Amino acid sequence: MKYDIVIIGAGPAGLSFASSMIDLDVKVLVIEKSSIDSISNPQGDGREIALTHLSVKILKKLNVWGLINQAEVSPLKEAKVFDGDSPSLLNFKSDDSSIEALGYLVPNYQIRKALYERVSQAKNITLMTDVMVEDVNPSERSSQVLLSDNQKIETKLVIAADSRFSSIRRKVGIPSLMKDFSKVMIVTKMEHEYSHHNIALECFDYGQTLALLPMVGNASSIVLTVTTDKAQAMLDMPEVEFNAKITQSFKSELGKMTQSGQRHSYPLVAVHAQTFIANRFALIGDAAVGMHPVTAHGFNLGLRGQDILATLIKEAHHHGQDIGSKSLLKLFEKKHINLTRIMFFGTNGIVALFTNDAPYIKQIRKLALKFAENFPPVKYLITHHLTEAKKNRFLPF
Ligand SMILES: Cc1cc2nc3c(=O)[nH]c(=O)nc-3n(C[C@H](O)[C@H](O)[C@H](O)COP(=O)(O)OP(=O)(O)OC[C@H]3O[C@@H](n4cnc5c(N)ncnc54)[C@H](O)[C@@H]3O)c2cc1C
Repeated sequence: MKYDIVIIGAGPAGLSFASSMIDLDVKVLVIEKSSIDSISNPQGDGREIALTHLSVKILKKLNVWGLINQAEVSPLKEAKVFDGDSPSLLNFKSDDSSIEALGYLVPNYQIRKALYERVSQAKNITLMTDVMVEDVNPSERSSQVLLSDNQKIETKLVIAADSRFSSIRRKVGIPSLMKDFSKVMIVTKMEHEYSHHNIALECFDYGQTLALLPMVGNASSIVLTVTTDKAQAMLDMPEVEFNAKITQSFKSELGKMTQSGQRHSYPLVAVHAQTFIANRFALIGDAAVGMHPVTAHGFNLGLRGQDILATLIKEAHHHGQDIGSKSLLKLFEKKHINLTRIMFFGTNGIVALFTNDAPYIKQIRKLALKFAENFPPVKYLITHHLTEAKKNRFLPF
């Protein structure tokens, strides 16, 4: 069997890239190991994805944003970062009144559903489910993809979007840097008596981290990060006790809080591939860079990366050039990897600073927060990166 492009993985990154290929005269195959039902009718997984303005722009360009149920999109107007019981506070809000929000919170399953809907309408894209890619043999002229049912597929370009634990990345021989935080993120939806005013809260309490992401109405996604040894107890905690604990953690400022969703857990492991390319092969999404979720950049970077690659492929195709050439792939990596490295190491640095409770680190943390809060360029850079308000002069992207 022959295809122009083979995409491994029908997660948000793989399906975004497939959507980018819809208007192009190329034959695309997406291979996914899960069932068609889990891809076409994804269930809630507790993840509320904070999308930047650039991500919304890309999803609009892909004709996917309009397929997302807008009644479930919640604007993020402000974000506050607290440090334990100390009065240190970092506050982000857009200083441009024409900008409605810093970003938008969208349930992950809604994004996946909309992406599937878009891809399933495309004539040039085939989705093969319930089959796993076992291996990829990249070479200068074409790549060969081997499936668990013994099928072999020839292609000009393989795109691996097979998660942060990508087995294909390893099989192709791309090393990666993996950071295991030995922590677990527990997420659930909670209803509360008073309004959150669309403000996100991040509280670095000593020993644990607690975040609140404002959803539609008087409801929020609660994100609790605990060490791995404490995770099971937190998952098993009776609801009454859990409700009381979270209500108390937010000092009853939102009134009584009541769990209304399921508790989901995610082990915290971040990954950065050493290179994003090989012969006729590219990594996108979490397979390229799997971020710690605290800065909410995983899928945003995934969308940005696939957009860069798709744009280069479209240009090459338009000029009758090879869509899997070395020079194209090198340019993709050059345009994307510097930013992902900054984000990856920057986020890991923030996590190290905010989750270490040694007294001298707490002192550094207080100073860092004070500096960031009172030194406008720092906040300017972060808010303008989120809102894309103006093309700013400081950042390399
Ligand atoms: C709690 C939490 C909160 C988050 N919040 C945010 C946020 O606010 N903002 C943000 O931008 N990001 C956020 N993220 C990150 C975001 O969810 C991920 O970046 C995104 O889901 C990654 O998508 P992906 O398609 O790269 O990988 P995945 O979603 O992992 O998909 C990979 C797919 O590949 C398939 N697959 C794997 N191996 C094979 C194989 N060999 N053959 C065939 N198929 C295969 C899998 O079945 C799967 O469907 C969050 C993550 C978590 C855990």
